[in-house]
Amino acid sequence: MSDKIRGKVVVITGGARGIGLATATALQARGAKIAIGDIDETTVKESGTARDFELYGKLDVTDATSFENFLDEVERTVGPIDVLINNAGIMPTGRLIDEPDQITRRILDINVYGVILGSKLGLARMLPRKSGHIINIASLAGESHVPGLATYNASKHAVLGFTDTLREEYRGSGVHISSVLPTLTNTELGSGVSTPKLLRPAEPEQIADGIVGLIASPKSKIRVTAVAGAIIRFVGLLPESVGDSIGRALGSSHTFLDDVDAERRKAYEERARSL
Ligand code: NAD
Repeated sequence: MSDKIRGKVVVITGGARGIGLATATALQARGAKIAIGDIDETTVKESGTARDFELYGKLDVTDATSFENFLDEVERTVGPIDVLINNAGIMPTGRLIDEPDQITRRILDINVYGVILGSKLGLARMLPRKSGHIINIASLAGESHVPGLATYNASKHAVLGFTDTLREEYRGSGVHISSVLPTLTNTELGSGVSTPKLLRPAEPEQIADGIVGLIASPKSKIRVTAVAGAIIRFVGLLPESVGDSIGRALGSSHTFLDDVDAERRKAYEERARSL
């Protein structure tokens, strides 16, 4: 597999920590040249220095100039971008009625607009070369509906619809377009939330391994873990009332609401809400 990864120039947004950083680390170990960008300038520089990535620095995926400048710098200093992973995302939790409008807009701005903008900028570079791979990080939340995550669910459903459409729009262009649907994963984004029964949280390295395989052998989408993906797909095939009952029986109606450990979640919520 390393043969297909070695030498590839890979850009990862939101790469300072979590799934993005685990993916950068796994790809570097297989010989890829890594550029990570993140709105959190301090942490992206710490992570980039610690792992000696080719490039690391500030990138705000909601700002077209910032995004374009970052990609230009990668192409100038590292080389033509082979893979762009649109990974940056936030997940504030709570009831919709309590969600300030500016947070609603920020979730959509980062999770949806940031992915659309990144895909557009990536395609503009890759289509003339007739090669490249755009990978959009969605979520199994894009194939389910979980109380406490309404806007986040909406954002991930949007990423999946968008990415499936692009795949057809650019079929035959030489550019691969994929989505990744991680289950609940042990990163700061999920801190303090309880886990629905049957769905053990994944480690970021498991998602990273899935992405490594996806780059080596492109497909339209991967669900990680496969077991969590199969459960969500099975429930989605059932009549709505049955599926919703199973979701409630697994505890999904409390996981992101009453069962949240507010103290353990506080630092993440403050960070995500201030971005
Ligand atoms: P994380 O909070 O650990 O890391 C996300 C990174 O994105 C942070 O470093 C943050 O600073 C950065 N970021 C936020 N806004 C940004 C912006 N405007 N521009 C650039 N960077 C920005 O989260 P994670 O768990 O690693 O999540 C990564 C992706 O995986 C997200 O899209 C998330 O929705 C998705 N995902 C996560 C889980 C999970 O349970 N952790 C499950 C499914 C999908």
